Amino acid sequence: RTADIECEIVVLGSGPGGYTAAFRAADIGMDAVLVERYETLGGVCLNVGCIPSKALLHASAVIEEAEAISAHGITFGKPKIDLDKLREFKTKVVGKLTGGLTSMAKQRKVRTVTGVGMFISPNELEVTTSEGTKLIRFQKAIIAAGSQSVKLPSFPWDDERVIDSTGALELRDVPKKLLVVGGGIIGLEMATVYASLGAEVTVVELADQLMPGADLDLVKPLQQRIAKRYKGIHLKTKVVAAKAEKKGIVVTFEGESIPETTVYDRVLVSVGRSPNGNKVGADKAGVEVTDRGFIPVDKQMRTNVPHIFAIGDLVGQPMLAHKATHEAKVAAEAAHGEKSFFDARVIPSVAYTDPEIAWVGVTEREAKEKGLKIGVGKFPWAASGRAIGIDRTEGFTKLIFDEATHRIVGAGIVGVHAGDLISELALAIEMGAEAGDIGRTVHPHPTLGESVGMAAEVYEGTITDLY
Ligand code: FAD
Repeated sequence: RTADIECEIVVLGSGPGGYTAAFRAADIGMDAVLVERYETLGGVCLNVGCIPSKALLHASAVIEEAEAISAHGITFGKPKIDLDKLREFKTKVVGKLTGGLTSMAKQRKVRTVTGVGMFISPNELEVTTSEGTKLIRFQKAIIAAGSQSVKLPSFPWDDERVIDSTGALELRDVPKKLLVVGGGIIGLEMATVYASLGAEVTVVELADQLMPGADLDLVKPLQQRIAKRYKGIHLKTKVVAAKAEKKGIVVTFEGESIPETTVYDRVLVSVGRSPNGNKVGADKAGVEVTDRGFIPVDKQMRTNVPHIFAIGDLVGQPMLAHKATHEAKVAAEAAHGEKSFFDARVIPSVAYTDPEIAWVGVTEREAKEKGLKIGVGKFPWAASGRAIGIDRTEGFTKLIFDEATHRIVGAGIVGVHAGDLISELALAIEMGAEAGDIGRTVHPHPTLGESVGMAAEVYEGTITDLY
């Protein structure tokens, strides 16, 4: 069978992993083809993930700020919410970015093919397009097919009142009573949006803390703030049944703290994402996939088949866009024969909730589990001039150091803009910075970033009068 397209490298999936890989491959001189089942490029992150959620969270932050400033003499009154306009804003933000990708692909002469791609051999991908199937014959391939939200079978998914994050981002309306099942990053970000738009939000989480993965002390300021705003937060609790009835979705719970409300107008299920590794015909290409759907790779992002690489959500945790883009560059370069390796010491995580929670490297809990000898420097924002000035003193900055070397091994920040502050600490860890390096770096005053230097000074003992 003759191929419709012959290429040096094919990239399957156009999320942050896929488009970055295809663009990098083209930039270093490879003839690249990018296959995506949807009309727009950008994958989950740009279309139904990172970007639209942050556009809506911006609206939510403005509403909260406007309300908070009324305590200090400026009153705007109750917000009038025009959902159509807000949705339009979100759509425009997404469109700008995905449209940008299309022209970036053109500039680089990356050929894009719209359709569902499946491997049929180690060098062939069959793409089902609206104009029939197309056979792509390739020398190298990068699998970047991402992940999808876990659809727990105990929910009536055929009812439109049961939604996943994609449904929540559609912003069809603001439900009166919203149940969020799963108190991780995605669930709590969407809860933040809907609560500020006026929904009565209840969160249930199976684990004994919200945002499992982050240290508990980091989660506390968020939990305290939302405990006042939400109808309820229920830990160690699970949904055992959910039935679609005319009056709403009727939910039965089991666990330590059962919500009073049992009937909801909308139920958002955000209990995690599962990798798409076993949905691309990997077996036909001889590519190994785990039972859970992850594709094992080495440090060059190479699968067990030497000319096929894999990147992004489907190669493992953390399922984050910035991990995918970095892996993508390595894979493209390695496919080109370069000696590139994915060698990040740490990958930061950020929850864009209100307040934000950001962490990177070793957590205190991990250190304890692994028996690492660490020391902690913590700077409470109640002592930060800037935090006091914006009336958001609930945050803190925590740095974790190796006791023997005083090198930074981890960090956590909770507070407004924590996500924008964590990068300095990712860099510090990568560079092997010691407490003295961070404490003696002159940080601008008065900024929230100053708290980073201060936390290092607390650890070193050069600031002692905080507590
Ligand atoms: P994806 O973005 O999942 O892209 C995979 C692409 O492959 C998709 O476009 C899919 O259609 C396509 N595809 C799959 N199979 C086929 C096939 N057989 N044929 C053709 N095309 C196929 N991460 C962050 O870092 N920061 C955030 O703030 C953030 N917020 C998020 C908010 C939400 C609501 C969600 C759901 C996720 C969020 N994430 C965030 C996670 C982030 O979206 C993912 O980590 C990232 O998109 C992974 O990129 P990827 O390239 O691996 O795959």
